[in-house]
Amino acid sequence: MRSFRDFLQKAQQSGVAIGHFNISDLVLVKAVFGAARELNVPVLVGLSEGEREFVGTRQIAAFVRSLREEFDFPIFLNADHTHSLAKGIEAAKAGFDSIVFDLSALPIEENVRQTKQAVEAMKAVNPSVLVEGEIGDIGTGSEIHESSPDLSKGLSTPEEAKQFVESTRVDILAPAVGNMHGMLRSMVRGETKKRLDIERIAGIKRAARAFLTLHGGSGTDDEDLRKAIAAGINIVHINTELRVAWRHGLEHGLAKQPDEVVPYKILPSVVDSVKQVVGSRLQLFNGRHVAHGT
Ligand SMILES: [Zn+2]
Repeated sequence: MRSFRDFLQKAQQSGVAIGHFNISDLVLVKAVFGAARELNVPVLVGLSEGEREFVGTRQIAAFVRSLREEFDFPIFLNADHTHSLAKGIEAAKAGFDSIVFDLSALPIEENVRQTKQAVEAMKAVNPSVLVEGEIGDIGTGSEIHESSPDLSKGLSTPEEAKQFVESTRVDILAPAVGNMHGMLRSMVRGETKKRLDIERIAGIKRAARAFLTLHGGSGTDDEDLRKAIAAGINIVHINTELRVAWRHGLEHGLAKQPDEVVPYKILPSVVDSVKQVVGSRLQLFNGRHVAHGT
């Protein structure tokens, strides 16, 4: 099996992006893996610190590795939004393929200083682990928000991106380019969409010359996502859309069989509901025709 870095490079050469989907249970893993296998595209599953705490850091690493080996399929594992070096080292030791080291809440000088140290420390544990750094403000919480936060002051610039990548030696950069964690209620209803600053992405790509991740992809305009990938985005994160589909699928599964108590008879509704979202996003990220735009 080639490495995650090889698949990222291949995606970059082909002008497509790798989908990153957050998971916090077996049902979500089944849905993401099932959708990726049907489309035969590489996929990245991610867990934030909270999600890792719920599932188990070493346990999910063993589970994803077993899928990759048994099915000889490129499913990779990312430690999403890691806020301390201890948690980063823990993920590197467990065998995660990449680690998002997120100190974007700190002043940029401090973010640079600590991220640089973390890159060295995590690569000392596993030289092939990819480290992602974060700059700018894209909000927190992959949840439903009542109102839109003002993130306009936190947008990343090409100069800042270049300096950050060169100083820290991160492999991947997550900039703030109009994206935002979570979704507004109007986005869940499909009435509004997030819009991206495509020119800014292109400028950051030219300056930083690193892989780029778009966080907070849920609820983003499809055409903006296509343009963002063409402008240099290599990984797109989707979380909230999956969480919404997970809940809808569960409610549907329970309502359909009010007397059922067997989990594996109720939960396929959740797998189907999430898988549909993942499949539609993977098609878009991989430049395939999407039959029903979301
Ligand atoms: Zn994120």
